[in-house]
Amino acid sequence: MTPTITLAKGDITRESADAIVNAANSSLLGGGGVDGAIHRRGGPAILEECRKLRASQYGKGLPTGQAVATTAGELDARWVIHTVGPVWSSTEDRSELLASCYRESLRVADELGARTVAFPAISTGVYRWPMEDAARIAMETVRSATTAVEEVRFVLFDDRAYEVFARQVG
Ligand code: ADP
Repeated sequence: MTPTITLAKGDITRESADAIVNAANSSLLGGGGVDGAIHRRGGPAILEECRKLRASQYGKGLPTGQAVATTAGELDARWVIHTVGPVWSSTEDRSELLASCYRESLRVADELGARTVAFPAISTGVYRWPMEDAARIAMETVRSATTAVEEVRFVLFDDRAYEVFARQVG
């Protein structure tokens, strides 16, 4: 099945969903942007599980393009799915890694049984991916995914990001 795609504007940590996706970095130990906001509002339980992941199967950190779930702590969600987007490069095409973030997050969501998943615009902040291109990749990847997730909600932080994604929805 293909999920229904919806758009929302604002802070992803205010959303209610089965799973909220974090644009994490490979350390899994927090950062700025979405990552900082999720840990701030979600509370210490999320970081505690991230530390356990670092001490077990992700000793070297979570590789770019992969995804892993933890509790959502105090967020209005059951899980946070952490995924590491690629840093934008003008000399190397890393699109497949960005697509992989969306695909792998949906795969993890399926394993968990999540039916509604909220995504930020992965890699478009500190990692500098151009919004138009990131929106195209996000949308194409979700549209072509085979998943039991019923709703994929893209949560865009500002008007411009929202408009760029809205154009992709058509
Ligand atoms: P990355 O390191 O993958 O680029 P960032 O968190 O820096 O991740 O930014 C990803 C996108 O999320 C950017 O478009 C940024 O404006 C947006 N963003 C930042 N904070 C939030 C938030 N609290 N909720 C939703 N989107 C956010």
